[in-house]
Amino acid sequence: MSPDDKFHDECGLFGIWNHREAANLTYLGLYALQHRGQESAGIAATDGVSLHTEKAMGWVADVFSPERLRRLPGHRAIGHVRYSTAGTSRLRNAQPITANTARGPIAIAHNGNLTNADPLRREMERDGAIFQSSSDTEVILHLLARAPAGPLEEQLPYALARVQGAYSLLILTPNAMYAVRDPYGFRPLTLGRLDDAWVVASETCALDLIEARAERDVEPGEIVIVSDDGIRSVRAFPPAERLQCVFEYVYFARPDSVLWGHNVHTVRKALGRELAREHPVEADIVIPVPDSGSSAALGFSEQSGIRYEMGLIRNHYVGRTFIEPQQGIRHFGVKVKLNPMREMLEGRRVVVIDDSIVRGTTSRKIVRMIRAAGAAEVHMRISSPPIQWPCYYGIDTPTRKELIGASHSAEEIRRYLGADSLGYLSLEGMLKATGSDPAHFCHACFTGQYKVGIAPEATPQLRLFDV
Ligand code: SF4
Repeated sequence: MSPDDKFHDECGLFGIWNHREAANLTYLGLYALQHRGQESAGIAATDGVSLHTEKAMGWVADVFSPERLRRLPGHRAIGHVRYSTAGTSRLRNAQPITANTARGPIAIAHNGNLTNADPLRREMERDGAIFQSSSDTEVILHLLARAPAGPLEEQLPYALARVQGAYSLLILTPNAMYAVRDPYGFRPLTLGRLDDAWVVASETCALDLIEARAERDVEPGEIVIVSDDGIRSVRAFPPAERLQCVFEYVYFARPDSVLWGHNVHTVRKALGRELAREHPVEADIVIPVPDSGSSAALGFSEQSGIRYEMGLIRNHYVGRTFIEPQQGIRHFGVKVKLNPMREMLEGRRVVVIDDSIVRGTTSRKIVRMIRAAGAAEVHMRISSPPIQWPCYYGIDTPTRKELIGASHSAEEIRRYLGADSLGYLSLEGMLKATGSDPAHFCHACFTGQYKVGIAPEATPQLRLFDV
């Protein structure tokens, strides 16, 4: 769990078929998706004969030098940025994962999390399978290796029928690229065009950067096969209940992406407007916790008529660790990232907007910092409901007992934060703001309604108290 006390996304995918700069454009695509994973980055490319893979720990810009990109020849490539979910963050778990199978080389990149990966892995290990990593993605490779002989588009449904959970996948062989979304559609995956090339990306912001045009989403349960013969679609699974991750709208996705038919910034503004309707307050200024609260704060300001201001300035160039001076600085950890502007805050009644509260530790420091900068009142508003449950569908989350919303009422949290008032958006308000059918979303981290199985190993995570 990151020190900034947020839920953390998972992974980002990018793939391109039929472009002479395939590896370079994949690098750029991953650059645009960096927010989806900062621990490792990798690209697999093919010239139609063999597969070449380059991957390492670190950010995209640090991992890929021009020399490294030159080692990725061919007109087809897939790439991956990773924030570890299942498996630890060692290089062995960096993706794409590659293997030499009976049918030739294959590379696979996965966004999501399989809820039954552990029992499947144990079962296959009992049968003699040897795993190279602790990543659940390798489970899919082993299942593919066991599928009856046949074209990959037939083996894929066979293998994926055994897994549970969330997956958007990109698979590359010398002859084709496969883009797959699980039957519930937890994670996004978009298909685009760049001249004669086909492009697939987790978010449309990656298409924008390379000036590709978004065509459509890969549908839940669909396998899109791109080859030199063109593009084909296989409906691998019957339609299931849609369970798109609502947290993509709340926090994960970039505001400039179009997700499931709606611009993310627009949805976040709608979340802010709903929040203002549900929890009005007399105040002088509305400020966001930048950057995650910015769009919702604009919406809150529009709806309430309270002036939008910048009260906290984010330093965008902060690394992971800091050396703190011995003399000690109040709120140091948060202050390195966020600096309160006394000129904006002093003597004012301030509404501060954030997207979510996980443990509450950072929110508490932010409230104290704003007060220390002279604010007369601090009213905290959150553009999603209290997080009460961990996520098992590809998001890095703490255990249930670490989530402040799981064990404390809103009033208890308000007192802990030291805010004058606290308001969370309701579940209904959040789903309404998506502008989509409310039944099409997963909201298990708010409600505990896990609609897709959880492996028994995971259940200690759900406990509020040690037993
Ligand atoms: Fe998204 Fe929450 Fe569902 Fe996880 S549990 S997929 S974070 S809505």
